Amino acid sequence: MKCPKCGAMLTALQLQDITIDKCHSCDGIWLDHGELEKLRSTGIKGVEESLEEEYGNPPAPMFSLDGYLRCPRCVDQGLRSNYVSYMQPVKMDHCIVCFGMWLDKHELDKLMDDKQQLDSVKVDKGMKAMFAGLRKRIKI
Ligand SMILES: [Zn+2]
Ligand SMILES: [Zn+2]
Repeated sequence: MKCPKCGAMLTALQLQDITIDKCHSCDGIWLDHGELEKLRSTGIKGVEESLEEEYGNPPAPMFSLDGYLRCPRCVDQGLRSNYVSYMQPVKMDHCIVCFGMWLDKHELDKLMDDKQQLDSVKVDKGMKAMFAGLRKRIKI
């Protein structure tokens, strides 16, 4: 597959049991439908950092084909930009045909952090409820 951003060939990388496609030229990452959820469920931290450590991050000129991103899987299908977020908005481009998504450099890590923040908020709420319950019990 070709990078929708710069046209370089994407490299398939194995992360546990998930195969993601990474562009070593512009550092973007293509995720097929459902792969983001899988990545999140593994709880891996700093995915992009560890990929760079393992595979290197060769300096490459940043350029855009024509500013219009096309899905690397579907022929001539344009990607649509939108913002996904739990806690902080992260821009991503997705394909409305195969539901894959393109994440620019650092956007994957942002998305993963985002989910972690959400989880910690959930934990806080759970803890508060637990303490509230304890306080009640102590009064009795
Ligand atoms: Zn690229
Ligand atoms: Zn597609």
